[in-house]
Amino acid sequence: MQWLQSTTYFFVGKNAFFSALNLKTKVIGLMLLLLAGGFWLLAYVNAKLIERDMVELLSAQQYSTASYIAKSVDEAIKFRIEALKANAAIITAEHLAHPEKLGIHLSTRQTLGALFKGGVTLVSRDGIGIADYPPVSGRQGGNFVQTSFFKDVLESGNVVIGKPVISDFSGLPGVSFAAPVKDKTGAVIAVLVGFATFSDPSLFGHVESARFGKSGYVVIDDPKHGLIVTASDPSRILTPMAAPGVNRMLDRFVGGYEGAGVAVNSRGVEVLTSAKRIPSTGWIVQLILPVQEAFAPIRELQRRSYQIAGALSLLAVFLAWWLLRNALRPLKKATVAIQDMVTGKAALHDLPVRRDDEIGSLLASFNRLVSERKRIEDDLRQSKEIFQAIGLSITESIFLLDINGMVMAANPTAAQRLGKSPSDLIGRNFFSLFPLEVGQVRRAAVTEVYATMAAKTVEDVRGGRNYSTTYYPVVDEDGECSAVVVVATDITERKKIEKELERLARTDSLTGLANRRHFLELAELELSRMARYGGCLSVLMMDIDHFKHINDNHGHKAGDMVLQKMGQSCREALRDIDLVGRMGGEEFAILLPQTDGAQAQEVAERLRRTISAARIALNSGEVLCVTVSLGVATLTAGAVSMDTLLNQADKALYQAKHEGRNRVCVFHPEVPGDASLGA
Ligand code: GH3
Ligand code: MG
Ligand code: MG
Repeated sequence: MQWLQSTTYFFVGKNAFFSALNLKTKVIGLMLLLLAGGFWLLAYVNAKLIERDMVELLSAQQYSTASYIAKSVDEAIKFRIEALKANAAIITAEHLAHPEKLGIHLSTRQTLGALFKGGVTLVSRDGIGIADYPPVSGRQGGNFVQTSFFKDVLESGNVVIGKPVISDFSGLPGVSFAAPVKDKTGAVIAVLVGFATFSDPSLFGHVESARFGKSGYVVIDDPKHGLIVTASDPSRILTPMAAPGVNRMLDRFVGGYEGAGVAVNSRGVEVLTSAKRIPSTGWIVQLILPVQEAFAPIRELQRRSYQIAGALSLLAVFLAWWLLRNALRPLKKATVAIQDMVTGKAALHDLPVRRDDEIGSLLASFNRLVSERKRIEDDLRQSKEIFQAIGLSITESIFLLDINGMVMAANPTAAQRLGKSPSDLIGRNFFSLFPLEVGQVRRAAVTEVYATMAAKTVEDVRGGRNYSTTYYPVVDEDGECSAVVVVATDITERKKIEKELERLARTDSLTGLANRRHFLELAELELSRMARYGGCLSVLMMDIDHFKHINDNHGHKAGDMVLQKMGQSCREALRDIDLVGRMGGEEFAILLPQTDGAQAQEVAERLRRTISAARIALNSGEVLCVTVSLGVATLTAGAVSMDTLLNQADKALYQAKHEGRNRVCVFHPEVPGDASLGA
């Protein structure tokens, strides 16, 4: 499977594979590609140019040699034609009439013998050999009627060159030249035939001697008869020429082209061929050189060029590798150093900048980044310390909750209140940290804050202490509530103070009784209860007699003590449902719910007696006796306000004072003046 994966990776992720290669490999690979390609292209183009020049040069040389051979052969042919013509011209009808003399005549023609090594024959108008020299059996008397040259001469009346053949008489390859013998009227009376052998050096001597390169050779073709007239390779003499379409250049030459070109010959060999026609015969002189030999020096040059290119490429690549390795060394070192900083093996530090190049400026930039990061780290550390100090010093519990209510952060106070360490709280469900009921309240609060994105404060009691908990939404840049900050303040002490203040607000500090305001509040309540449920209600107003004297004679503290004692006596003498209040100075009010006038009068009287019977021991050791006066007012029905009722009681008190003090007076609306009751 491993191989499959790696193969897939290679084929599917070619780009990934390429980008995974390091810079050095990429540069060297590219250089190798460019250099090798460049050198190869150079060698190739060079070789091609040299090849072209060489083809031109060789072609020119070859063609000029071919032309020379063609010219030589043409001259030799023409010479033979002229010689045959001249000899034919001196043969007369006379000679024909005496054929025996003809042999002698021919034998005397030295030139003919030299030019036509296959012999000379005089053929009669009927096509019968009349005489020959040198005599060859069968030639004299032989029949030439069917030979094409004989027919052609008779027809044209001109010298004709026949088809190259192997002579029937000498067995040698050659070609017949036939010249007409004419009478005075110009009529052809006989034909003088000379057979030039191809082995005659004066005819094709140049062909044999011509050498072109090591394996170059000459071929003379007779396109008219489709035969090879002669060739450097004797075995090819009189063999058929290559058929049309086999050799491209040969086809062109046959078509009349004179010049040079490269083509594959009938033997499948690529050859450089030059051709020139021999005008007198129409034959084509071809000089042929196998390309392999022609271009051998170029091939060698190319091979060497490739070798040098390869060697130079390798050298260049090695140099590039060496240079790159040196140039990239600081980068490699920096990479290792940065890696160590990232993994924590080394502390964040500056990298040495030793060069002023691109790598140097990269490292310098990195160093700037390092110092910036250090500065940020310092700032962060400082803020962290500040926040830690704040977190430690404040008495509020602070939690940061994520959207699921998990604790992301908590300060030491929060952890301490829950009996845990801050790290214990991280990741815990906030609501499960508290008793079920409290947890539910807090969950509801957090849910509401997420929904409304507005802070919410809830007070609750936990472990006997009061807490005020505020939930603040943390709104992210999208305007969504991403977290909630919970700040819980222990308000137990505040609550106590508030309670105390409240108590103080309604209590008289000296006697501990309800003060005037509180008394009136409670009295109003009682009044409204009575109005709703019915019944009756009485009020007593009590004032200490000659209190000023106590203050004056025994001091203010003694007065205070007397006031306290009065309050105490009232409370002891009354029912729990009765309410006593200090209305100011040494004046007390007593509310008696469900008490009618007579009962109230009784209570007042009992109170008066109790107080007057009491002895108050002062700190000074003195004992005081105090009397009080009381006014009674009762409400049985009707809408009378508490103020009125108190006013009525006050009036009755005033009457008691007026009547001599230490007594109880009852308010009677009808006859206020008769409301007194003696002590
Ligand atoms: P009367 O019999 O007519 O009531 O005579 P009296 O002396 O009691 O007269 P009055 O009610 O005018 O005097 C009240 C005095 O009570 C005046 C004031 O100095 C004194 N007093 C008021 N409040 C306090 C207090 O809180 N402590 C003390 N020691 N004296 C107080
Ligand atoms: Mg008074
Ligand atoms: Mg008084």
